[in-house]
Amino acid sequence: MSRTVSSSINFDQVGKFEGYLQIGDSTNTNGWATFHLPIISIKSGDGPTVLITGGNHGDEYEGQFAIANLVRQLKVEDIKGTLIAIPSLSFPASYLSTRLWPDGTNFNRIFPGKESGTIPEKIAHYLATELILRLDAVIDIHSGGRGHYFLPSATMTWSEEPKYRAELLKNLNGWQCQNAMIFPSQPGTNENSLFPGHVAALGKSLFTGEFGGAGVTTATSNKITRAALISALKSINLLPPQWLSQSYDHNLKIGERRFIDMRAGDSYHWAEDEGLYQNSRRLGEEINMGEEIGAIHYTESSDRQPTRVFAQRSGILGVIRGFPRIRRGDCLALIGPSYLTIDAVPNQPTE
Ligand SMILES: [Zn+2]
Repeated sequence: MSRTVSSSINFDQVGKFEGYLQIGDSTNTNGWATFHLPIISIKSGDGPTVLITGGNHGDEYEGQFAIANLVRQLKVEDIKGTLIAIPSLSFPASYLSTRLWPDGTNFNRIFPGKESGTIPEKIAHYLATELILRLDAVIDIHSGGRGHYFLPSATMTWSEEPKYRAELLKNLNGWQCQNAMIFPSQPGTNENSLFPGHVAALGKSLFTGEFGGAGVTTATSNKITRAALISALKSINLLPPQWLSQSYDHNLKIGERRFIDMRAGDSYHWAEDEGLYQNSRRLGEEINMGEEIGAIHYTESSDRQPTRVFAQRSGILGVIRGFPRIRRGDCLALIGPSYLTIDAVPNQPTE
């Protein structure tokens, strides 16, 4: 049990409660400060206990809006089970329009956290050692942040463990998104240091999605995120299938579904220079290997030609660059082969 984080809400209590995680803090101007992280609990009878989180990265706004809007609307009688929501996990970062916390912490790289660490480390420790343990499922909504724009998609990180992989695939379908993307473990990263990675290591049911990015939400990306979140909650029976909201348009048209495999190393296009990156192909477009997908410009130089960037493989352009300033080693784009059914996706990615 955490000695540095407590909840103002009793999650066992039936009803709808808005409160805070209260995190002990000590600052230059207040030795006994408390940092308050907004949290909402809606409990009604028997059913799964589910945590939905947005703003894990501060500059990813799609989930922050979708979750805040939905929980504001939901009434106790709408749900069967317990819904716990943290709409903006990293809101100090969100206010600054940054991916990282003001102290430089990437909230999605610090699990299982530290009981007596920084504020985000204390929150991660509380989630890892208390909140996650009482859950049946976690729904963590991301996007590309300022740096990238993802084709709004349900996502999963491929698991080598067949039973857990089947659970992830079930949830991938549960979002009811037109696009689904399948990723490998993140390059150069301890997967268990991620919030969803930690949830997966505990064997808990997990939904992840990337719903746009570039630090901007649009009417379309907001609508897709909202519809996906409602579908995910219905797929685990927290919301009944017939649940409708008068303020939402539930008639989202879904085109032909596709499963885009981003597991192969050549899906990732890394910058080999610094400069300003210009995208030259449309997100979601079918690209052939060798075609130009963008260029690195050198705006400080009057006579230097841009460096053209070419597709390393054929497939769907699933992620493009957002904020154009890039350094060597930054990711510029992701391209992967697409399949019409999940069963068609091979066990090993095709290079
Ligand atoms: Zn993220």
